[in-house]
Amino acid sequence: MNSTILTINNLNKNYGSVHAVNNLSFSIEKGNIYGILGPNGSGKSTTLGIVLNVVNKTSGDFQWFNGSLSTHEALKKVGAIIERPNFYPYMSAYNNLKLVCKIKGIGYDKITEKLELVGLLERKDSKFRTFSLGMKQRLAIASALLNDPEILILDEPTNGLDPQGIHQIRELIIQIASQGTTILLASHLLDEVEKVCTHAVILRHGRKLYEGRVDQLIASHGYFELNASNKNELLASLKSHTAFSTIEEKDGIITAFLNEDLSAEELNKSFLNKGIVLSHLVKRKESLEKQFLQLTNNIK
Ligand code: ADP
Ligand code: MG
Repeated sequence: MNSTILTINNLNKNYGSVHAVNNLSFSIEKGNIYGILGPNGSGKSTTLGIVLNVVNKTSGDFQWFNGSLSTHEALKKVGAIIERPNFYPYMSAYNNLKLVCKIKGIGYDKITEKLELVGLLERKDSKFRTFSLGMKQRLAIASALLNDPEILILDEPTNGLDPQGIHQIRELIIQIASQGTTILLASHLLDEVEKVCTHAVILRHGRKLYEGRVDQLIASHGYFELNASNKNELLASLKSHTAFSTIEEKDGIITAFLNEDLSAEELNKSFLNKGIVLSHLVKRKESLEKQFLQLTNNIK
């Protein structure tokens, strides 16, 4: 059964003349790991800030848990880390979490469980200031999980960490998700979203370029490079073909991007039936990185 955690409809945010979030819509279903992926300045943090009620939207709306709760009540079921972890430096990890419990009105019984989950139980009595950046981030995750939220929101969770710290945080996110917590993270790293997330929303200049499963993005259908002596006829035929999304011509070669599966044999046969004889036909598939660059460089 699908259960919707968050729905965003036609959301906009303007900072003066900067259109930071541009008519953005997407939804988050329970149990998945979502990545908002986009270069710096693409509106990721602004979007998270709006749904967490720390940034005012300009227009549009969003709804937590199908609108069954007020935003204030709904946010009690959300754990979020959108800033650098900030704890008392001279207090122990355990006592910092105790303080969080006191502020949020949660019992202390979850502290040990969450410290164990993030791998900091042995360091529970160490002062926060003695922690590495990765440990600080893991403590922040433990803190955000104290009330067993439905969803954990993380903004650039591995920024500034060393490779080992990055690996630990990514593994931890996957582990938390495997226990049933929905995850929404923002990242400018394609690699991170590819490794950690099941679903992605790709942003550029605040606009959505892609929304869907990460494996479908990876398993894109590829593209053909073609040519024929009667190039105009070939172009017209490609443009009327429903299997292609974008058709480009460069250096005398036509590139046609597929939006569904189609083999070179099938395509060749259909052209022959129309009396078009191809002088060049190659099927290629791009790396996810190239697709991402293509997505983020072309604005529709
Ligand atoms: P990201 O998190 O993807 O890097 P942001 O949401 O931080 O992007 O920023 C999106 C755009 O909005 C950027 O152009 C940024 O400069 C602008 N912006 C963000 N916050 C503010 C602010 N408080 N005042 C003015 N402009 C802002
Ligand atoms: Mg940001």
